[in-house]
Amino acid sequence: MRRIGLIGGMSWESSALYYQLLNQRIAAGLGGLHSAECVLYSVDFADIEQMQTQGRWDDAGHRLAEAARSLEAAGADVALLCTNTMHKVYDQVQSAVSIPLLHLGDATAAAVGAAGLHTVGLLGTGFTMDEPFYRERLERHGLAVLVPGQTDRGLVHRVIYDELCKGIVLPSSRAAYQDVISRLVERGAQGIVLGCTEIELLVGQADSPVPVFPTTRIHVDAAVEHALAP
Ligand code: GLU
Repeated sequence: MRRIGLIGGMSWESSALYYQLLNQRIAAGLGGLHSAECVLYSVDFADIEQMQTQGRWDDAGHRLAEAARSLEAAGADVALLCTNTMHKVYDQVQSAVSIPLLHLGDATAAAVGAAGLHTVGLLGTGFTMDEPFYRERLERHGLAVLVPGQTDRGLVHRVIYDELCKGIVLPSSRAAYQDVISRLVERGAQGIVLGCTEIELLVGQADSPVPVFPTTRIHVDAAVEHALAP
């Protein structure tokens, strides 16, 4: 089994899910007492969030590149940046190491393609929904991407930072997300990308009339495939 490196802490609520799913998938794949060979580098999210809001993306990229180098030095064969948003600095992080950094957008696009869908609604942080870095990565794989309207984007973003990243899961926010999803489906979304690694702590398939694509699960599946490849 290859060793998986996780750049986590963004937020730790979703990193905990990464760790749990990773071990469950490896146990399911290998049976018995098998568990994942992995190394976690978990950052202080308050620092990263400050860099995001101040637009200091280069500094954030530098910090995450350092984390990636530590994982490589610890023997990781492959690395995951456990947040969609920070894929904004994917190139900076990938270029700091020689091990592959599995892109969350690529893995997600592959899952959508495998389901035979073409048009997806994208939920995520304001950065992920408003800026081109993530949308264009999905579009590169031939997908059409719809984002919620401005008010809905504000709501989705606020719930991520004020609630989910702090472990707060509210039924009222779930209902609000269901409404946002319905509006995307009305506009033609055939699937919904849960493009923030905390969103699947709040909503799942039962909350959507069309298939959902939970990015934490998808990323973990891609990593496990890599770890167990002959
Ligand atoms: N985990 C989130 C994501 O997947 C948001 C936290 C962050 O800004 O990194 O985008």
